[in-house]
Amino acid sequence: MISVGEFELIRRYFASATCSAPAGLVELGIGDDCALLVCPEGQRLAVSTDTLVESVHFPSSCEPELLASRALGCCVSDLAAMGADPLAFTLALTLPVADASWLEAFSRGLCASAEQLNIRLVGGDTTRGPLSISLTVMGLVPVGQALLRKGAEAGDLLCVGGTLGEGKAALELVSGRKSLSDPEMEQLLLDRYWRPLPQLTLGALLRGKASAALDLSDGLLADCRHIAEASGVRLVIEAASLPCRPSLQSLFSREALLQYMLCGGDDYRLIFTLPARHWQEVQAACPDVSVIGRVEQGEGILVLDDKGRPLSLSNEGYQHFGKCSDD
Ligand code: ADP
Ligand code: MG
Repeated sequence: MISVGEFELIRRYFASATCSAPAGLVELGIGDDCALLVCPEGQRLAVSTDTLVESVHFPSSCEPELLASRALGCCVSDLAAMGADPLAFTLALTLPVADASWLEAFSRGLCASAEQLNIRLVGGDTTRGPLSISLTVMGLVPVGQALLRKGAEAGDLLCVGGTLGEGKAALELVSGRKSLSDPEMEQLLLDRYWRPLPQLTLGALLRGKASAALDLSDGLLADCRHIAEASGVRLVIEAASLPCRPSLQSLFSREALLQYMLCGGDDYRLIFTLPARHWQEVQAACPDVSVIGRVEQGEGILVLDDKGRPLSLSNEGYQHFGKCSDD
């Protein structure tokens, strides 16, 4: 193993990486005490931080390239959920050892992902300790147009940006609890886990239209509860309307899939509430969105079965969902 010193490490793998070259609104990038970013008039800076710790948030000895793309994808998803356009990010990296081949692969994955998401690395910190990665992302959103968790109103539609359940299904593979005989499907699910694609185009489209929004990280029930609480409304979810990739339906039982869709996290789809008058425009621009329920007066979450009956608390499955949503 080739190990490198701190300053050489920063220079070689981060300061001179392609994703760090100052451009656009990045006036000064890596190398000084601070980066300097231009914040245009009429815009707000949206900021969010995520930390991933080895063995807690990702399996130990996972591939550094995939780790970088997952970390950045998950973090940028918060910008999408706010309706912000990506601008820049910082990286706080804690490493047990400075292994050149690990760093080279991590830097390569980070740059590929940063390029795809149109975001630039502008600084960070490098320390020694158990492996962890902390990213702070920054984006711009026009004043007054950020998509908040509060704002949903009775009568709005409850919508999701794409199919559900894949994040949790993928986690079953990543953790080794399950394997699939279909290599194509296995690759698709692993990609969904290691290369989450933040719904940035949808987030931008929803500015000035959606009444509330967030990105799905903890699971549909848990995340919808955040909107219900912040907005002071009740969200009604129709189980039969939850969109699921058809190829998944032949691989997992219906019960398992319903649980993945309602409780499994890691889908990184946008969940949003939308006044019905905007539905046609949103659907025309983004055909993957679907309506999964509605906003009513009241509080909490109500899940209806395919006959329109509330899923009963005595139903074993639903009890299980109830538990997982409180995590
Ligand atoms: P300081 O001691 O002033 O905090 P550092 O020596 O930690 O500065 O960092 C020097 C420069 O390198 C700074 O611009 C910092 O933002 C950047 N930097 C340090 N670590 C990283 C990293 N892992 N990724 C990107 N930039 C980094
Ligand atoms: Mg420092």
